[in-house]
Amino acid sequence: MSKPLPTHLDPRVRGLRDSATIAINERSNALLDAGRDIYKLGLGQSPFPVPAPVVEVLRAHAHEKDYLPVRGLAPLRAAVADFHRRREGIDCAAEDVLIGPGSKELIFLLQLVYGADLLIPAPSWVSYAPQATMLGRYVHHIPTSAETGWRLQPERLDEALRQLAKQHPGRARLLILNYPCNPTGTSLGPDALRAIAAVARRHQLLVLSDEIYGELHHRGQHVSIARDYPEGTIIAAGLSKWCGAGGWRLGSMVFPRSMRWLLDAMASAASETYTSASAPIQYAAVRAFRGGPEIDRYVEDSRAVVAALGSWMAARLNAASLACPEPDGGFYLFVSFEPHRARLHASDIHDSKALCERILIDTGVAILPAVDFGRPDRELICRLAYVDFDGASALTAAAAVRASNGDGADSADTLDEAFLRRHCPRVCEATERLIHWVAKPGA
Ligand code: PMP
Repeated sequence: MSKPLPTHLDPRVRGLRDSATIAINERSNALLDAGRDIYKLGLGQSPFPVPAPVVEVLRAHAHEKDYLPVRGLAPLRAAVADFHRRREGIDCAAEDVLIGPGSKELIFLLQLVYGADLLIPAPSWVSYAPQATMLGRYVHHIPTSAETGWRLQPERLDEALRQLAKQHPGRARLLILNYPCNPTGTSLGPDALRAIAAVARRHQLLVLSDEIYGELHHRGQHVSIARDYPEGTIIAAGLSKWCGAGGWRLGSMVFPRSMRWLLDAMASAASETYTSASAPIQYAAVRAFRGGPEIDRYVEDSRAVVAALGSWMAARLNAASLACPEPDGGFYLFVSFEPHRARLHASDIHDSKALCERILIDTGVAILPAVDFGRPDRELICRLAYVDFDGASALTAAAAVRASNGDGADSADTLDEAFLRRHCPRVCEATERLIHWVAKPGA
């Protein structure tokens, strides 16, 4: 037998685990294979199919085999710029756009290239902090609270920046702001964004505005901080959420014109690592970003379903003292079990990890602990992704309801409880199971 090579892990990746969202998905699948009935509210994957016209273009371009330009296919960069101009009123052009294999990879590349301390609200999406840690960067969590829907408060940002300026003077800083937010489901409106922009400008802070759920704002009212802070905002977006195409791996970033040096440096780093995003996918993405009536209807129907479901769940959960803010967008709820703390402690549940583990074993509902999103481990809070339903049939049914109601702006309100029980039965059942379980966690 030959001797295995010794383990040589760089200290920066020691202790790194599989991303929490991927891990819960694999654990849920293993339990499913073992015959358990699992409600998959762990991984935040869009339940909706990719719109048919976009799939058709992909099919037609399956033969495209050449490497594409590092920055992305020219018509795609133009379509992405046009999308942000049309949807958010951002003054940008094709030259300001960078395309990559998923926004996650682009965010990592940005953190690599822009040597800065990272600021993120607590809670934040699971991957920002591990990416910074892999790069040996300092991570600062900015506290937020349930009372303000876990939204970043400008005063708290200002405080954090003053503190960091004293602790590590002269260092560059990057804030990653994600709205609508994974994991909280809440978003930031124009006033809040204006106030945050003013603080950012005062401190010369680079803002990465992660707007991957922008199109899934439940009322279609997403606005970008780039409107208030054009010189210091990079917008991250992509196909994964609003277009149901997470596995296609296509992300985009739009840079301020004055930061072409940063886009160029990212493109150089990309040219030495992944080269370019997949060619057929980029051709199909042009169709998605160009939009049109069919795509608009798809997005509106998707919004109607997640808006109705999120709002129904929040009402049910809050009525059972499982406290969560009313969601504004995306498909997540950040649910506090704190009102039941005494009973949970009596059942030997003292932190969010143990809470999720017990819920999974006792009820079959897979959800993620708040500790994975940067909250203190003893806080009894979890993230629910309300995506375990057949998105294709829910979309068809929603379209029929909306058509019979004349496509009114408030049509989300017309997808009632009967609709949700019929088309999202597993999410409704998972909600009931949580409510039932928390009343008697030791049973
Ligand atoms: N940002 C947030 C907040 C996300 O939830 C996700 C995916 N879960 C991403 C970025 C990455 O998306 P992708 O790499 O698929 O573009």
